[in-house]
Amino acid sequence: MIPFDYQRADDAASAVATVAARADAAFLGGGTNLVDRMKLGVDNPTLLVDISRLPLNAVDVQPDGSVHVGTNVRNSDLAAHPVIRAHYPALSQALLAGASGQLRNLATTGGNLLQRTRCVYFQDVTTPCNKREPGSGCSAIGGYTRYHAILGSSPECIAVHPSDMAVALAALDATVVVVGPDGERHVPVTELHRLPGAHPERDTVLAHGELITAVHLSPTGASRSAYRKVRDRASFAFALVSVAATLEVTDGTVTRARIALGGVAHKPWRASRAEELLRGAPATEDSYRRAAEAELADAVPQGENAFKIPMVRNTLVSVLRELTPTEEQR
Ligand SMILES: Cc1cc2nc3c(=O)[nH]c(=O)nc-3n(C[C@H](O)[C@H](O)[C@H](O)COP(=O)(O)OP(=O)(O)OC[C@H]3O[C@@H](n4cnc5c(N)ncnc54)[C@H](O)[C@@H]3O)c2cc1C
Ligand code: SF4
Repeated sequence: MIPFDYQRADDAASAVATVAARADAAFLGGGTNLVDRMKLGVDNPTLLVDISRLPLNAVDVQPDGSVHVGTNVRNSDLAAHPVIRAHYPALSQALLAGASGQLRNLATTGGNLLQRTRCVYFQDVTTPCNKREPGSGCSAIGGYTRYHAILGSSPECIAVHPSDMAVALAALDATVVVVGPDGERHVPVTELHRLPGAHPERDTVLAHGELITAVHLSPTGASRSAYRKVRDRASFAFALVSVAATLEVTDGTVTRARIALGGVAHKPWRASRAEELLRGAPATEDSYRRAAEAELADAVPQGENAFKIPMVRNTLVSVLRELTPTEEQR
């Protein structure tokens, strides 16, 4: 690891000013991803500004029922919070599906959203990778692709976004509160992460020095919501595919579905085409399957990951079936 300086931030404004002023400075949350990347030589910041002790660590329920989650709320605490468990179960389930107990105790909300891909070539500095070194090539194309994208990739990069939590937040229409040198702005989670296009080195729409201070959950809640992750091991493994969904059904008809897919793209993939097809459709397995197939119509497998297409379809159908109210619940 290359030597670096460490500063503990006194407040958000000075943390932003310090990082924005230096191209080689980075915010430090729980450090569970950034420090790994530094050890691997993937990132070499020369200044870490530790924001993990700023008082941005509360889960506040607002008078209108919306929920404000400070960026330093640890993944374990957010997953266990009674309001999250009761009204946003998909979020609690997604958090508990990620990493391990010890990691979740350290990992912060903001850091989890901004963790970087685990593409093996991105993490191996001896191989070409356009995300790590723009213009060097993509070793994954034609290489080991079991974990790679089937939707929205580009000839420059086929990596997937790794966060489980981000997939749930995308389905829940959550918004990220960001503070930068020019003030505060709010970014929907669905627009925070980018597709790779010609610039896979840019994971998100954030500028250098912009700090996530909170995540905002809308008051509509989503007590009928779920997150399902399919992976190679029962724990401590990133998603092969995942599905976060909410479902509202009236008199046997879907009135609203919100769906996001993980493990399939460079960002949490909001399944808008499936949602559109489901609106007004009978709440049946047939409708769910048709919607899943429409969403996957443009999927392009990469080498050995063609299995993801039926895996997404079956997982999505299964999650929607689970969320469909039974006779007794109607
Ligand atoms: C072995 C292992 C297995 C894992 N498995 C999973 C899994 O299955 N699913 C899953 O979702 N995750 C998994 N994780 C990832 C883990 O959840 C992340 O490492 C963690 O959430 C990152 O949070 P952090 O606070 O430690 O971030 P850091 O490592 O501190 O930061 C991550 C990035 O975000 C930036 N950053 C941090 N906070 C902010 C902020 N507030 N504003 C702007 N930038 C910021 C940092 O500069 C850095 O680039 C795994 C991690 C490990 C090590
Ligand atoms: S898929 Fe993306 S991250 Fe992986 S090697 Fe290719 S360019 Fe790099």
